[in-house]
Amino acid sequence: MGPMHRRDFRAPLELAAQTALSFLEDLPTRPVRAAQPARSILDAIDRPVPAVGSAPADVVRALAEVAARGLTAMPSGRFFGWVIGGGLPSAIAADWLVSAWDQNTGSHEGTPAAAVFEQVALRWVIELLGLPASSSGALTTGAQMANTVGLAAARNAALASVDWDVEDRGLIGAPAVRIIVGEERHDTVMRSLRLLGFGSGAAIVVPADGNGRMRAEALERELSTHRGPIVVCAQVGNVNTGGVDPVRTIARAVDARRRAGDFTWLHVDGAFGLWARASRTLSAVVEGVELADSWATDGHKWPNVPYDCGVAIVADRDAHRRSMAIHASYLPASSDPAVRNPFDWTPELSRRARGFALYAALAEMGREGVEALVDRTCAHARRFRDELGAMPGVTILNEVELNQVLVRFDAGDGGADAHTQRVVREVQREGTCYATGTTWRGLAAMRISVCNASTDEDDVARSIDAIARAHALR
Ligand SMILES: *Cc1c(COP(=O)(O)O)cnc(C)c1O
Repeated sequence: MGPMHRRDFRAPLELAAQTALSFLEDLPTRPVRAAQPARSILDAIDRPVPAVGSAPADVVRALAEVAARGLTAMPSGRFFGWVIGGGLPSAIAADWLVSAWDQNTGSHEGTPAAAVFEQVALRWVIELLGLPASSSGALTTGAQMANTVGLAAARNAALASVDWDVEDRGLIGAPAVRIIVGEERHDTVMRSLRLLGFGSGAAIVVPADGNGRMRAEALERELSTHRGPIVVCAQVGNVNTGGVDPVRTIARAVDARRRAGDFTWLHVDGAFGLWARASRTLSAVVEGVELADSWATDGHKWPNVPYDCGVAIVADRDAHRRSMAIHASYLPASSDPAVRNPFDWTPELSRRARGFALYAALAEMGREGVEALVDRTCAHARRFRDELGAMPGVTILNEVELNQVLVRFDAGDGGADAHTQRVVREVQREGTCYATGTTWRGLAAMRISVCNASTDEDDVARSIDAIARAHALR
C-alpha cells in the first residue's frame, strides 16, 4: 500500500455522511434497543488482523454494516437510560469537522482556532451557569475527569495553605487534607479521590436525606469537628433522583469555617444538574452554586453535545493552573496574554478539539434554547411522574426536582423488586423506549432520565403507554 492521497477521502466520507443521515433519520421509527447483543457483534468481527488492507470506503461500509446491528438508539427522543443526551445537528457537524481537521488542541500556536473556540465555549458555559466570570475552565472527556481537575486544584490549594507544594512533593509525608462527601455522591468522585492519592476510603461520608441530598447539619458538625484543610464535595443532581444538595447552606458553612482561619474548599459535582442554572424557573433549585470553588459538569449530557465533552471550572485560576500546567522545552509557552494554551489547564497533552462542538451547540441554542431545553425535559419528567404515578401498583420513589424519575412497579404478588426488574427488561425488549434499572435505598426501581433535545410530547405519551403495557404483563 502506497501513501494516502487526497482523492482517497471522498468515497469514505460521503459514505459516512449517508450512513450517519440514515441512522439519525431512522431514530424516530426504529426500536430503541440494539438489534443484537455484544456477543453477536464479537462473533462477526473477531478475526486476526487482516494480512492486507482494503479500500477506505470498503472498510467503512463493512464496519457500518456490522455496527448497525449493535447500536442502541441512544440519541433517540425515547431513550431515557442512565443520563445521556443526544447530539444537536450543528454540534454533530462540527464534531465531524473536528475529525477532518485533526487538530492537536494543546497550544494556540499549534492551532489558533481550536484553542480560541475552546476558550470562548468555556466562557459561555461560565456565563450560562452564572459562575464567577474570573473562573478558569477546562474541557475534559466527561464529568469524571472534570471532577478530577476540580479536586486536583483543591488539593493544590489545600496543601499550599499549609505550605506544602503538592505538585513538587506529592502526598507522601504531606499534612492531612480531609475530604467530605455526601452519602449519595456519584462514584466518579470516589475514583477521582483514588486517582489523586487521597484514597476513597479516607473520605468522611455525611448522611443524605430521602432524595439523596447531603444533610447540611451533619456536614456542619464535621466541619466544626476537624482542624486543618478540608475539601467538601457537594452534588447538584443525583444520578438516580436528580436530588440537589442544599448548596447555599453548605457554602455558608464552608465560608464560616474559612473565615475562622481554616482552609475549606467547596467542589460541586453538577454533571447534569448545574444546567438548571440556565432556567429562570429552576435556578432556585440550585441556588448558591456560584459560591463554590470548583465545578464539574458535562456537555454530553443535558446540552446535547456529542460524546465526549466534560467541563471543569475553577474559581481560583492560579490553583487550577498550578495543578495542571506543563513545561517542556519543545512546547510553546503562550505568547499572547489574551489566549491560553489548553495544555496548561487539562490533564491531557494531545487532545481532541472539543471546543468546536460545544461552541456549536451553545450557538445553536442560545441562552433561550438552553433554558427551553432544561424546562422542557423537566416538564416531561413531571409528566412521567404524574401519569405513571397515577397507575395502580406504581410508586414514584423520588421527589422530581429536575429531569430524573424513579419508578417502582408492584404486581400485587409481594415481589415488587422482581416485577420492577421484569418491567425494565420488557420495556427494553419491546423497543418503543429505553429505561434502565437501579436500586434506590434498597428498592429496585426503573430510572427515567429525560435529557434529549428532541424528546416531544408524543415520545413521552408513547413511552408511558409502553411502560404501562410492560407493567400489565404478569
Ligand atoms: C454522569 C455523572 C458523572 C460522570 O460523568 P461522565 O461524563 O460519565 O464522566 C458524575 N457525576 C454525576 C452526578 C453524574 O450524573
